[in-house]
Amino acid sequence: MKGGVQSAKADCITVIMLNTQNTPSPDTYFGCNVFNETVMRNCLPKKVFEAVMCTRKMGTPLPKDAADSVANAMREWAVANGCTHFTHWFQPMTGVTAEKHDAFLTPVSGGVILDFSGKELIKGESDASSFPSGGLRATFEARGYTAWDPTSDAFIKDRTLCIPTGFVSYTGEVLDKKTPLLRSMEAVSRASVRMLRLFGNDKVQRVMTNVGPEQEYFLIDKASYDAREDLILTGRTLFGAKPPKGEEMDDHYFGNLTQRVSDFMRELDEELWKLGIYAKTEHNEVAPAQHELAPVYTTSNIAADHNQLTMELMKKTALKHGLVCLLHEKPFAGISGSGKHNNWSLSTDDGQNLLDPGDTPQDNMQFLLVLCAFLKGVREYAPLIRLSSASAGNDCRLGGNEAPPTVISVFIGDDLQRVLDAIEQGKALDDNGKERFNLGVDAMPQFRKDTTDRNRTSPMAFTGNKFEFRMLGAADSISCFNFVMNTIFAHEITEFCDELEKADDFQTALHDLLVRTIRENKDIIFNGNGYGDEWFAECKRRGLPNYPSTVEALMQYDRPEFVRIFEEMNVLNKAEITSRKEILLDNYSKTVGIEAKTMLDIARKKILPVCISYTKDLCEAIAAKEHISPMLRISSAVEDALASQISDLTAGLYDAIEDLREVIQLACRADGVQATAETYRYKVVPAMERLRTTADALEILIPQDKWPFPAYSEILYNI
Ligand code: ADP
Ligand code: MG
Repeated sequence: MKGGVQSAKADCITVIMLNTQNTPSPDTYFGCNVFNETVMRNCLPKKVFEAVMCTRKMGTPLPKDAADSVANAMREWAVANGCTHFTHWFQPMTGVTAEKHDAFLTPVSGGVILDFSGKELIKGESDASSFPSGGLRATFEARGYTAWDPTSDAFIKDRTLCIPTGFVSYTGEVLDKKTPLLRSMEAVSRASVRMLRLFGNDKVQRVMTNVGPEQEYFLIDKASYDAREDLILTGRTLFGAKPPKGEEMDDHYFGNLTQRVSDFMRELDEELWKLGIYAKTEHNEVAPAQHELAPVYTTSNIAADHNQLTMELMKKTALKHGLVCLLHEKPFAGISGSGKHNNWSLSTDDGQNLLDPGDTPQDNMQFLLVLCAFLKGVREYAPLIRLSSASAGNDCRLGGNEAPPTVISVFIGDDLQRVLDAIEQGKALDDNGKERFNLGVDAMPQFRKDTTDRNRTSPMAFTGNKFEFRMLGAADSISCFNFVMNTIFAHEITEFCDELEKADDFQTALHDLLVRTIRENKDIIFNGNGYGDEWFAECKRRGLPNYPSTVEALMQYDRPEFVRIFEEMNVLNKAEITSRKEILLDNYSKTVGIEAKTMLDIARKKILPVCISYTKDLCEAIAAKEHISPMLRISSAVEDALASQISDLTAGLYDAIEDLREVIQLACRADGVQATAETYRYKVVPAMERLRTTADALEILIPQDKWPFPAYSEILYNI
């Protein structure tokens, strides 16, 4: 060891090892900002530590004296690491995290002491009236409570101890994204343990849902960002002609990182590792200026917390490098958008992955039952899955040729398809469903073929031992998709258990159940090209629902059959679902409303004057030619043509501005959340598209130095 840096933690001093570059080795500081199991083991009395672990693993409440002891240790650890404040860190329906900082100080006669009680750890009270509640909380009951989630580690951010919490109203209704996720994980565990008992497993106590979210994002220069009002106010460009070079050369995907991007990624990794976030894979994505980060997967709830922190740190770290991180689903029209691939799987506390088919899937009845529950659930509750990734931003991305279609289907691959076909048709399989292939390079080992090949076009693909859901938008919280998926899965497994537990002969009943489930739900499986037109026609033939936009999707949220499963699985009640539907519709309207008004502002104040002034320049050029040399007859054909083309387009621009202004007013006057959202969807969005098309046509004709903001090619190729 060349040198060492000491980082003080209460009762545990970490020595950070320096390597030959004099930079600390990640394993020595990984998780140094987290009050994790290791820290707790070191600084809590053994009994208290065991009580916390029991709370974490089994959900048993923590006794008050144990909570006091944890709070005390947390405060000591946080203060030793430079903290002055604590906050309950929660995830209201705004989509971003919220925090309200309190100092540890408590006044005593003659001074202050540093204090933090078990009560403050477990429960916080905050004025919830400024967070969206969808009518759940009358203003006279404006109080909301934040409640400690002991399953997710407290951590330090900006010298503040952050305690992950759920957020509920005074009357106990859920107002956040974490609480339903935690409840849905409980439901999956309950149902799956019950199922495992049927297969003779008496050991398993808990089944966890796991997620590995792959996060896509854009990095652009801060100066370009600052020059674009649309990016500043809405996170995406509302105007912009397609650049001469887009993605056609496939030269960005996995390409070399520029120095600036590489420096950014290094610093981001370090910040994430300090927070115990398993950032692992980073690369350039398909679009210019687009990148991806994938962490190692972990329990859903922690993955959701970590993903929120990752997004926050991406934005903060970018700024330190003179960059801006864009998480919008479609920052640039005509260029691939950003999604978040949600890899979902189930694991048991005895180490099984319930989605691992094993070597011979046809024999692995437990796997097949899980697979069938998944397929049946997705077919029956496809609208819920669709709406779990619905947002105004994602509307710009889904259904394009770079993102999944808006119709839900599942890809399972040829091997599993053969197995399901054989079961349905009552045939024995003539092979074990796996092939071997040789990569053809002598030095390379032979690989077993994956159970699935890579289908990039499916919204939900089975990828060997997990399902990859590809519809989520880059800016979304992953909680909604996961609590929806977990609820659906728990419901299906519960129904299967109800049936199988009653059976006299388990094996026969299981076989019959599998055959029936495959037969009734196979329409949800699609292994072909999801971007092709044929698939769209086939969806219609199969009767698979298609909700092209957020508004149509969200309108399904409170269908009675959906309310029933949320209530049965104890995840959300009817009032909570109705409130969510309202909040999300309202959020859609507000987002589109801000975009529309920003467009109006830019078009009226920036684009229109430039067009008028450039037309004037052209007319002056024509007049000058005529004036200086009437006899020489220097042709002004080009100026004539340009001036007339630009004049016509400018007239079109003006009309489009007026049209947009009118429909915005219409939306503002609409009565109720639903009518407002529908007006934005069916009137405002098309008017925005018309305005954009005209403005983009003008951008191509007007000199770059006169155009009021940087063009796509300047933004996308300068870092
Ligand atoms: P690809 O881009 O090929 O899909 P990546 O390596 O970028 O692959 O991302 C794969 C993601 O899936 C990672 O976050 C990884 O941790 C996660 N993952 C791997 N196995 C599982 C699993 N069993 N359950 C959930 N997520 C998983
Ligand atoms: Mg992936």
